Amino acid sequence: MIILVINCGSSSIKYQLLDMKNDDVFDLMAKGLVEKIGLPSGILTHKPTGKDPVRKELAIPDHKVGMQLVLDELVAPETGVLSSFDDIEAVGHRIVQGADFFSGSAIVDEDVMSKIAICCDFAPLHNPAHILGIRAMQHVLPTVPQVVVFDTAFHQTMPAYNYMYGLPYKYYEQYHVRKYGAHGTSHQFVAGKAAKLAGIDLQNSKIITCHLGNGSSITAVQNGKCLDTSMGFTPLAGMIMGTRCGSIDPNIVPYLMKKENISPDDMTTLMNRKSGFLGVSGVSSDCRELDAAIAEGNERAKLALKIFTHDVIKIIGSYIAEMDGVDLIVFTAGIGENNPRLRRRVCENFGYMGLKFDYEANAAPGDDKVISAPDSKVKVMVVSTNEELVIARDTMHLVLGNQE
Ligand code: ADP
Repeated sequence: MIILVINCGSSSIKYQLLDMKNDDVFDLMAKGLVEKIGLPSGILTHKPTGKDPVRKELAIPDHKVGMQLVLDELVAPETGVLSSFDDIEAVGHRIVQGADFFSGSAIVDEDVMSKIAICCDFAPLHNPAHILGIRAMQHVLPTVPQVVVFDTAFHQTMPAYNYMYGLPYKYYEQYHVRKYGAHGTSHQFVAGKAAKLAGIDLQNSKIITCHLGNGSSITAVQNGKCLDTSMGFTPLAGMIMGTRCGSIDPNIVPYLMKKENISPDDMTTLMNRKSGFLGVSGVSSDCRELDAAIAEGNERAKLALKIFTHDVIKIIGSYIAEMDGVDLIVFTAGIGENNPRLRRRVCENFGYMGLKFDYEANAAPGDDKVISAPDSKVKVMVVSTNEELVIARDTMHLVLGNQE
């Protein structure tokens, strides 16, 4: 089944075209990125498998034009991978926020669209863009079924004592204020993949998944279900991230707003876009650039990474306590998969509970691997994530199920 996976941002469209043979066997036919939608000059980068990549600079006024460009590239005579649009059997969309409306993926209809629209309030940077993406796709491929896959769905199994905040209860009832988490697709995928590789029964296990990238979150997965997660009402909560401050004393918010005389929107931008690694180091939001700055003796870059490392240690520690133990710790995403030093520094703090680290395996290249010693009480793994594959799988299952 040929499935187009779409991840729409406010000014970008990321896409992958996958030919799904079954859940685990698939061909990546093409992938690409449309950037700078709405700006005077946009960029399309298209990478068809086995063919030369394409890069075009042109004005892309809106998502509808962006989607049309993507489809045109997919069927282009030289660089395309399809003979016609009709070959696309379904489209799967990544949606950041589904709140408590969605505990799983769904086929798009008007009821689903109205619920995604309600969730715009909790994900103002993401959900409006997702809606634009779905509407644009409906316009250019009106007869193709569309599926939505939510970053929040996996976390819907959290018990109330983990998702409720200590605020007046009425704000949960009136305004849906509670923890929703994010990166759920990735946490679910790597927990399942790592358990399978490690020979652990997912349904009878205590796993901590660390998705450490530009945005980072950690999840406690007990018996295959989310018990707790570090992001909150929005993805701002939890550890320090590339440009997000993570959890801070809430009183800092009104304090800084008064001192700097700034609006709620400005404060939101400050916490989401100007903080984190970038804000503390003054150098960059990118971990690799912090490492380069540290090598040159930059103390604030060092501090930013130290805050991050200790946030990761503290969250893992709290989840071990919450689950009364852990069988498997999994590292994934840009930093989790590619930064052995971070993994070593984190794992060295869990020696007290019998975690024996395999320094050699940790430093060696390779995607999916065990980095704890064979006699370690806790297994530690590095596993590559693939959110697009989960979206394609869910899309395939829902569309095939609907046809039966
Ligand atoms: P996003 O949350 O935007 O998907 P990623 O998961 O790609 O982000 O993670 C981005 C972070 O991962 C950056 O801090 C970057 O420095 C780090 N990273 C990505 N690839 C590598 C790599 N090959 N080596 C070291 N660090 C990497």
